[in-house]
Amino acid sequence: MTKKELAISLSKMDVFVDAKAYLEQYPTDSEIAADVLWFAYLNNDIEDKVIADFGAGTGILGIGCMLLGAKKVYFIESDSKAIDVLKKNLERVKGDYEIINSDIGNFDKKVDLIVQNPPFGTKEKHTDVRFLEKAMPLSKIIYTFHKAETKEFINQYIDRSKHHMTHYFEFDFPIKKSMKQHRKKVEKIRVGCWRLFFS
Ligand code: SAH
Repeated sequence: MTKKELAISLSKMDVFVDAKAYLEQYPTDSEIAADVLWFAYLNNDIEDKVIADFGAGTGILGIGCMLLGAKKVYFIESDSKAIDVLKKNLERVKGDYEIINSDIGNFDKKVDLIVQNPPFGTKEKHTDVRFLEKAMPLSKIIYTFHKAETKEFINQYIDRSKHHMTHYFEFDFPIKKSMKQHRKKVEKIRVGCWRLFFS
């Protein structure tokens, strides 16, 4: 598999039907997912690893990990409608996985890697920090997406934890018109992806 092939496979995934605003259901763009996951793959963070995708939605991050040779992927998602789409997307890939239809708060397995593009806390303040807080004790390596404008705040949070940032990527995140309140067809927001590690 090449990075291009990964991006193409991910671009074919189905996305949310009737995305729910209160859950901030925005799928990660396939090019951005491929960029981050390809980096992670080259960094030996994916192949043969047990991985959890927190707030998996329709599964683009976890499925990308499966395509890149993950040993097993746990998809943790609270919304059963999103899980219906996730199940359809999973029909197209091979590999070991488990879907957990639950709040991330109920997941307590130690894993090698957590990938998460959580709600950015626009609707409910600091939801993304709750995801971080949950992820940190469960995984040495975390790839986590947050709004770039909250960088200082996220960095301060990381500074107080046992993890530290090894890499940071920033993207123009296209938010496609999927909810009634969106006026423009595609809006772009600056989003960062942190790679966190603790040894
Ligand atoms: N990770 C996916 C989806 C991002 S949208 C992607 O990258 O495309 C954020 C997802 O988190 C939504 O599917 C939403 O339903 C889910 N979510 C929000 N709060 C959650 C919680 N407390 N526990 C589990 N999933 C949650």
